Amino acid sequence: MRIHAIQTGTVAIKERQRRGVGHGLRRRLNTLVDKVWTEPLPIYAWVIEHPEGIIVVDTGETARATEPGYFPWWHPYYRLNVRTWVRPEEEVGPQLQALGIKPADVRWVVLTHLHTDHAGGLQHFPKVEIVVSLTEYQQASGLGGRINGYLRNRWPEWFDPHLIDFAPQPFGPFPSSYTLTQAGDVVLVPTMGHTAGHLSVIVQDGNMNIFLAGDTSYTQQLLLEGIVDGVSESDEAAKQTIGRIQTYLATVPAIYLPSHDPESVVRLENRSVVSVASDKIPMTQIQ
Ligand SMILES: [Zn+2]
Repeated sequence: MRIHAIQTGTVAIKERQRRGVGHGLRRRLNTLVDKVWTEPLPIYAWVIEHPEGIIVVDTGETARATEPGYFPWWHPYYRLNVRTWVRPEEEVGPQLQALGIKPADVRWVVLTHLHTDHAGGLQHFPKVEIVVSLTEYQQASGLGGRINGYLRNRWPEWFDPHLIDFAPQPFGPFPSSYTLTQAGDVVLVPTMGHTAGHLSVIVQDGNMNIFLAGDTSYTQQLLLEGIVDGVSESDEAAKQTIGRIQTYLATVPAIYLPSHDPESVVRLENRSVVSVASDKIPMTQIQ
């Protein structure tokens, strides 16, 4: 199976968003008042050439995000904590065309979560089945969603995603999962933390597994260190997810690909498998 990275521009965030400092509300406030910017980080979307059809994971950001007034002026995160650079030709639609893929021919678009830099390219997929976790969709709704920075008003009018509720069907260390393909080789798993309804996509390609992590961590290194980011609501949920992913990566050969890790594309090209210390494997799985 061929997998392509599509970089839809870059985003800079605060250093303490990438690597959270402190716990709970304090950790989130530390992000808001941090003065140190990261370098511009890639915004990746992923394209899987699957025998059952093309699967796009996340849609990246839109060039409109660089226009004044696109982000809500009243929102402290958008005022203080994020800078975005996207040119129109960097959007997911034109880049898919450049790969010889018509967006209308895509079989599924899966969104890891509904933050703007993952849902910004939705307008390129008006006729495509879009898969979102039910919990994430609910989180993004109403006033609570707006306060949490979801830009529901920027979603296309036709947006009516296929909402999935994870079945109590364990997948490795994950207590529930959703099998996307008939072949059973593309599996969605809940990875709550960065957002309450965040999911990750696991592609099983022969002996190799590709873990499309969304914003579960900003880099592979931060996952291995077990660091919670600076925006996750719940330390406990984020830590539990990090632990499950570490266990998964310790038990099968896998390439770990977060959406904003500048090394993700290098690891995909080189098929670099992450190596996790065996103390991350619970005893029950060693026996
Ligand atoms: Zn996010």
